[in-house]
Amino acid sequence: MKLNPWVRIGMCSESASRAQRSRKRMAVTGLVVFFAAIVAVVLAAPRSSSAQSAGASTTSSASPWAGSVDPALITDLVYANRILYDQGVLDGFGHVSVRDPNNPSHFLLSRSMAPALVTAKDIVEYDAQGEPVNPGSPNGYLERYIHAAMYRARPDVNSVVHSHSAAILPFGLTGTPLRAVYHMSGFLGSSGVPIFDIRDAAGQTDMLISSNKLGDALAKVLGDHTVVLMRGHGSVAVGKSIQEAVFRAVYAEVNSRIQMDAMKLGDVKYLSQEEAAMAAATVGAQIGRSWDLWKRRIGNLDAASH
Ligand code: MN
Repeated sequence: MKLNPWVRIGMCSESASRAQRSRKRMAVTGLVVFFAAIVAVVLAAPRSSSAQSAGASTTSSASPWAGSVDPALITDLVYANRILYDQGVLDGFGHVSVRDPNNPSHFLLSRSMAPALVTAKDIVEYDAQGEPVNPGSPNGYLERYIHAAMYRARPDVNSVVHSHSAAILPFGLTGTPLRAVYHMSGFLGSSGVPIFDIRDAAGQTDMLISSNKLGDALAKVLGDHTVVLMRGHGSVAVGKSIQEAVFRAVYAEVNSRIQMDAMKLGDVKYLSQEEAAMAAATVGAQIGRSWDLWKRRIGNLDAASH
């Protein structure tokens, strides 16, 4: 009997599909073994892809001098120190602080050391008068009274940066007003950043804000501005968050460079009051973009040099 070719094909395809099923089973078994091996390798590797998160949580453990502050806030403050150095705002000197959200009259600031080397364990809690809360705290910055005074005077301010960055200094020396020249620094305003002259407040000094009295005099000149220049010394930038204060410190410096370059070329057309206010509102809502980038440049806090 002659087999119908379609039946033959059917028989062949039936045995073929049996073989295929068997191969499929083998392949699936092989894949399971393969992935199990990968999982085993990943779990066994001590510091592979999971190293970053593990490292970050180690670094963000609370400082012995900073009470029960959220470790995430301490981590942000450590990043702020490193970022301000990386962006050329701070060098071996200068400092950045944050208000304690649990106790708004207190603030957190590194012990006296170079900002680029600060770790979570160096953060110290200070009271409203700029004195350490915990007995035995390490030595603090001589100018911690700058921070204490700003927090006393400005309830809206939650972070303060004090720096001696070079480009902004000439505007405190010459009486040429520092003003917003582009959208990124609209927060500087159009009327000129105020200048504090310590000689007016206290006569002949070492130029440092080393007391609450001098801190209060500086805060008075800051008024409701975002930045104040300190004649022959540096500047202070304030913000409602660490990210905002860092952003303002960085862009006050950049604005100073641009304004100086523009003044060499000719008459400068500054932002108007309206332009400065609108640009500050729009750009101010997007500062997270810079913060994320600047943090990426620092990388893992444990891996950074300290
Ligand atoms: Mn200083």
